Amino acid sequence: MANITIETLTKRFDDVVAVDDVNVDIEDGEFIVLVGPSGCGKTTTLRMIAGLETPSEGQIQFDGDLMNYRTPQNRDVAMVFQDYALYPHMTVRGNMKFGLEEEPDFTDEERKQRVEEVAELLDISELLDRRPEELSGGQQQRVALGRAIVRDPEVFLMDEPLSNLDAKLRAQMRTELQQLQEQLDVTTVYVTHDQTEAMTMSDRMVVMNDGVLQQVGEPLELYHEPTNMFVAQFIGEPSMNFLDGSYEDEAFVSEQLAYPFDDRITDGLSAVSDNDRLVLGIRPEDIELHDPDGEPQGETSHENHTAAMSVTVVEPMGNENVIHLTFPDSSSGTEDLIAIADGMRRIDADSDIHVHIPPEAVHVFDAETGDALY
Ligand code: ATP
Repeated sequence: MANITIETLTKRFDDVVAVDDVNVDIEDGEFIVLVGPSGCGKTTTLRMIAGLETPSEGQIQFDGDLMNYRTPQNRDVAMVFQDYALYPHMTVRGNMKFGLEEEPDFTDEERKQRVEEVAELLDISELLDRRPEELSGGQQQRVALGRAIVRDPEVFLMDEPLSNLDAKLRAQMRTELQQLQEQLDVTTVYVTHDQTEAMTMSDRMVVMNDGVLQQVGEPLELYHEPTNMFVAQFIGEPSMNFLDGSYEDEAFVSEQLAYPFDDRITDGLSAVSDNDRLVLGIRPEDIELHDPDGEPQGETSHENHTAAMSVTVVEPMGNENVIHLTFPDSSSGTEDLIAIADGMRRIDADSDIHVHIPPEAVHVFDAETGDALY
């Protein structure tokens, strides 16, 4: 096992800054997921950790030892790629044994035994004599993992290893891979653009955008306390709703909504002045929908935080419905808010509805910088 220290890591390809001053400490045995949209610099970061790419600036250390000038072979890392990269002319056994080719300490008998142990761990013992073309995608993925595991490396580096699998298999392999990592307790850096994969598998996530690290934290920390609008919209599905407006008299005010802030929020907004541009963030799953003809809302604060809206589209997803909502006389054309409602509840398109935005669930961002203010 190893802890990995990444300091001021930067990679430039001519005038493209692929990775820009990234700092992160990865603990022994931790499962870290680098996540972000295409081109954000995840793979380049991983390749620098692997030794496949040389940093333009900064340092990578394993347990305090500088890795920058070491070849990939001298870093004791094992990589698993998206395209498995299995040798087609070799059997599964041959492919897995190949992972041990560069381990001079192993006798032939030990290599054989190690391959069989790992095959059992991955439940592929019965496939050892097949060739890759005789395997399903999921089985090939296991063999690629097996080839990495037999080496018993200090660090696993994985680049979108599940992205060639169909949705069902991917979900299954996610759980398996996570359990396997826990069992093997090897420091793992895993790259994906899929926030669900990152949320469900990682101990901590590193969210990147445009080469810049946005936030590092446990999945729920990022979900509940995003540091800026980028992380807020990247984590969670459907994405967080954003409403543009300004700060006026301890309230968020937009063309269609006057939303008074309670003391907790105004305390957090001490640096904000009247007329400053704000963005109000609310997750679809935090919005409450009430029937306008139902029980009158008792609490004053509840009334203050409830708006009359129209339902434009209802997307049934089975256990839940995705509800698209507009304010009356909205100029947005499509929708102003998206909410999630229970799949059993009947909500019709073109109906009117009362939308309650609970104060404890709102996020407030600086409209200029995108930074979270509350
Ligand atoms: P994806 O999810 O699409 O693989 P990524 O987040 O892994 O994206 P990188 O592959 O690290 O992103 O690329 C980051 C940026 O660096 C991109 O703008 C990419 O075009 C650029 N880049 C990557 N490798 C090279 C290279 N060898 N030469 C020039 N530019 C490169």
